[in-house]
Amino acid sequence: MPAIILKPGREKSLLRRHPWIFSGAIQRVEDEPLSGGTIDLLSSNQQFLARASYSPNSQIRARVWTFENELVDKEFFRKRIRATVDTRQKLNVESQSNAYRLIYAESDGIPGLIVDRYGDVLVLQSLTTGSEFWKETLADLLLEETGLSTLYERSDADVRELEGLDSKVGLLRGNLSSLIFPITEHNLKFNVNLQSGQKTGFYLDQRANRLRVRGLAKDKDVLDGFCYTGGFTLNALAGGARSVISIDSSADALALAKENVALNDLPSEKTNFLEGDVFQLLRKFRDENRSFDMIILDPPKFAPTAAQAERAARGYKDINLLAFKLLRPGGMLVTFSCSGGIDAGLFQKIIAGAALDAGVDAQIVEHLSQNIDHPVSLYFPEGAYLKGLVCIKK
Ligand code: SAH
Repeated sequence: MPAIILKPGREKSLLRRHPWIFSGAIQRVEDEPLSGGTIDLLSSNQQFLARASYSPNSQIRARVWTFENELVDKEFFRKRIRATVDTRQKLNVESQSNAYRLIYAESDGIPGLIVDRYGDVLVLQSLTTGSEFWKETLADLLLEETGLSTLYERSDADVRELEGLDSKVGLLRGNLSSLIFPITEHNLKFNVNLQSGQKTGFYLDQRANRLRVRGLAKDKDVLDGFCYTGGFTLNALAGGARSVISIDSSADALALAKENVALNDLPSEKTNFLEGDVFQLLRKFRDENRSFDMIILDPPKFAPTAAQAERAARGYKDINLLAFKLLRPGGMLVTFSCSGGIDAGLFQKIIAGAALDAGVDAQIVEHLSQNIDHPVSLYFPEGAYLKGLVCIKK
């Protein structure tokens, strides 16, 4: 078995069961491992620590499959996949939606592999050489363990470049009559574009928070910044909002959002969809002295890693400061960050700074996070990326 021998003292993170080995921790690589192939991770005194996949081009040079001295083969992955299916059943995720995350990579013990279920269609995203190496096996197992027959691939995330992988999109198994797929989340229908929608088509992580907004939106004038295909917008309307202004920079997302309002017979006369930049439009609204009872901000990842945290912090502060100004007294800010590089504590500080600079007082009434189908391994805190705050402006 090819192996990585670590520098002295660099086994510490593995002993705490963190699954990554960075290039700087490596003393030498033995026996020319294949890209994505299985290797042993050994301490500087040759002790077995873990069995991992090898990523020759990435700073994260190895990702642990197992800390046991066990065979990594089809049956190994079958057990892991079966466990993820069992967890979702235990959590009764299907009572929330027929679209949910079935496998969440490191957090579910299968680094590099994301699998989202949209009704009877599985959508696979392979992010590393390790998941790529085992892709055909994983594809077979996914169908065997779920009893489904269609698997679509959306391996077009930017992070693949760090692994030296090209983008791949298309059908891996079975048939699809249409790439626009209807899902039902908490009794609302959404059309999802499996081929060109963002992520694997839908932001499954925000499900519980969208429902929360439904419960808070009655009779409110709502602004949904970064609305994508209408997730929060539809929930606000379903919750009895008086009006909803929804902004996104993507014309495709807005077209689908409008379609989704119609699909549910929600009152389209209460909606106003604007194609544009939230940063600019919030400024314009401020200059026009507009005001709202509820503002939702769910921007894209400004800081994928801690290195971009400072610039990202300025972005978050900017939009939240403007939002605090645009809120009426007693109004609610529902604000999120999905940046891995910004943790919950820092996010709360940024929001406090935004309120301070806006000259307002506000209180946090709720902390929000990612939905239950995006679990977090205790050994891999990086898996907790989505944080949200509900604040009331005094
Ligand atoms: N809340 C949504 C998901 C939002 S994802 C849901 O529940 O489904 C973030 C969205 O922000 C994407 O749709 C992206 O197109 C949009 N976006 C990114 N930068 C933007 C900007 N500067 N102004 C407006 N929209 C932007």
